[in-house]
Amino acid sequence: MPSLPETFADLYGHAPDGVWSAPGRVNLIGEHTDYNGGLALPIALPHRTSCAASARDDDVLRIASLQEESSVEVRIDEVSAGHPSGWTAYVAGVLWALREAGYAVRGLDVLVDGQVPLGAGLSSSAALECSVAAAASELFGLGLLESAEGREVLAAACQRAENDIAGAPTGGMDQAAAMHCTPAHALRLDCRDGASTQVPFDLDAHDVVLLVTDTRASHALADGQYGARRDSCEKAADLLGVATLREVVGRPLDETLAALPDDELRRRTRHVVTEIERVDSVVDALREGDLAEVGRLFVVSHESLRDDYEVSCTELDLVVDTAVSEGALGARMTGGGFGGSAISLVRAGDVDRVTAAIEEAFTQARLAPPVSFAVTASDSAHRD
Ligand code: ADP
Ligand code: MG
Repeated sequence: MPSLPETFADLYGHAPDGVWSAPGRVNLIGEHTDYNGGLALPIALPHRTSCAASARDDDVLRIASLQEESSVEVRIDEVSAGHPSGWTAYVAGVLWALREAGYAVRGLDVLVDGQVPLGAGLSSSAALECSVAAAASELFGLGLLESAEGREVLAAACQRAENDIAGAPTGGMDQAAAMHCTPAHALRLDCRDGASTQVPFDLDAHDVVLLVTDTRASHALADGQYGARRDSCEKAADLLGVATLREVVGRPLDETLAALPDDELRRRTRHVVTEIERVDSVVDALREGDLAEVGRLFVVSHESLRDDYEVSCTELDLVVDTAVSEGALGARMTGGGFGGSAISLVRAGDVDRVTAAIEEAFTQARLAPPVSFAVTASDSAHRD
């Protein structure tokens, strides 16, 4: 197999200036809280997306990927909502957003190679954006990779690319994880102000493994339902007279819920408020090394997402129920829901049995086989 720089050279007729990469992520807890100004707790995956790139002295972006057939050539000043369309929007959008933010970026030749499974809820989109942002920062001398503040600027540009150019109305958690996570730590991310702190997450010391199961399911309702959940949260915040639901965390929950007019809004709000509280409970349990408590909180989170927020699905519930009945310390869906991935906290000696049981449960239910793999907390975007 030719290397990524070799393939780049074949495609563009010259060597790349370098290769940059950024990780996918799994969120340990704090789901559907980012757009409520809440808390999340992602780790960076060992799975990364690489971007081989060279700087141009014009404004042209040439964009190709080893995972996609389509490629594009577009000038930065032609980039706009929906243009270019498809996957190249995630790349072109980053250069557009950096220029919008006042940075002097020029054109790039880009070839992408991603190891993050696409569309599995493991954030291949942010890994892609952030690998490109890392390349742009170094190739145009922006110096933004060198500091936490600079990385915040890059993460914000990547989020704008995803929201404004690719048209996916996501919160900022994925890009923050790809820019700020460190090995053997989870990132406690405060989505209200973007502040983050590192929380020790070294399961080896406890002989425990974090197992990710990609259900390979993706239900068509995901996009519309995501928008509907965001709308419900905005409506509830409006009715409660606050900017975001984060503001009611810490107030008596029964009083908050009593002020809402219908059961659905009450359940959506209850999920968001209790989920934000659970993030700090997991942080405390991790600091105390109490993984049984972390696992218990995973299950409570899953039930809240399933019953109150209604974003789970058959496949995700099956992973969680099977893992827990096989002795996992806990399990939950992760990511937006309606498919994607689940995580289980499993004693090292039980991993094979839990994995086999999940596969067997899917076979019995006549569902396509899921893919499970153990992960460790890995590193953020950097030059390779
Ligand atoms: P997730 O981020 O959970 O993987 P998304 O739907 O947010 O799911 O992003 C997946 C999309 O990101 C893909 O459909 C594709 O458009 C783009 N993408 C991610 N990685 C790559 C890659 N290596 N090459 C081309 N496009 C990619
Ligand atoms: Mg994504």
